[in-house]
Amino acid sequence: MLRWYDENKRPLPWRETRDPYAIWVSEIMAQQTRVETVSRYWPRFLERFPTVADLAGAEEDEVLSLWSGLGYYRRARLLHKGAKEVQAQYGGEVPADAAQRLALPGIGRYTAGAIGSISFEQPEAVVDGNVARVFSRLFLIETPLGASVTEKRLWQEAEALVLGERPGDWNQSIMELGALICTPKSPKCGECPVQNLCAAKGDGSVDRLPVPKAKKPPKQVFLSVVVAHPKGQPDQVFLQKDNGARFGGKNLFGGLWGLPTMEVEAFDPPQQDLLSTSALPKREDAQAVLRAAGLSGRLEKDCRARIKHVLSHRRLEIAVWRATGVTPKAPLPEGQAFVDAEGQAKLGIATLTKKVLAAIG
Ligand code: SF4
Repeated sequence: MLRWYDENKRPLPWRETRDPYAIWVSEIMAQQTRVETVSRYWPRFLERFPTVADLAGAEEDEVLSLWSGLGYYRRARLLHKGAKEVQAQYGGEVPADAAQRLALPGIGRYTAGAIGSISFEQPEAVVDGNVARVFSRLFLIETPLGASVTEKRLWQEAEALVLGERPGDWNQSIMELGALICTPKSPKCGECPVQNLCAAKGDGSVDRLPVPKAKKPPKQVFLSVVVAHPKGQPDQVFLQKDNGARFGGKNLFGGLWGLPTMEVEAFDPPQQDLLSTSALPKREDAQAVLRAAGLSGRLEKDCRARIKHVLSHRRLEIAVWRATGVTPKAPLPEGQAFVDAEGQAKLGIATLTKKVLAAIG
């Protein structure tokens, strides 16, 4: 691996230095950011703030302006805070002691290990996305990424392997292998220096590994929605820009027009109707939806339709009600209107609203 690294590593600017502060900056910048982008920002940042003392003494606005374009500004704020702490506690010298480094703001296990191994040549392990992918394949780790059993195993392997010579280059060689050869899609196993040791290649499971992070099941949410027609105008429906479908304080369909909606208590899914009448959608809920929208009118006795709608994190069960002869209790403010089909085509309307309107005809 070390030989392969020496011959194949990309000539990145921070590979020219062992200065722990400079390495620290490069590692923070490289989180969630492409190496090519970091290559442009890192020299500029180091030119303006060549030492911990320079960064520690800077105004936050200037630090953020040099970070501008890299995104994830929290990283820059934590780096700045970390520099101040290193200045205050260690006289501007990044500590060689791993535990002291780990205690600094914005420095997690990975960053601490990268600085320790690259700058101080200490046998400190790193596990990032590249290492996780290479090791999952090399050692046939079949548990999902992110699971504690997987994380534990990855760190164990990394800690055992970093004990040899040139720990900084060793760590970087695995990351570089992940970036150049053992890529997420179509890895170049034929060019891989460890192909003869690779368990996944041996049993043909390279494409299956690593096992992706288990996704959280979507949350089940129950909604009551009212399609409200104004008096004498059955072709028009009431729409509003903030339709009340709020979860966690955020409008579910931010900025789009929708039917008045409210989250309600659970009711049985449609297929259970015949078995149970105890948890049917409640008419009072729909009345509350009408009231909340500032409307009054005749709500039909039964719920008109029951539909399902799946979003990335939520599975919605929706009870759709119809109200006729609807009048607003006060003149409609901006962002609320009775709209016919032609008008609807001109508005930005949430997909769910279109689905509801299509369902009840
Ligand atoms: Fe990755 Fe293929 Fe090398 Fe195995 S042989 S480590 S899967 S590139």
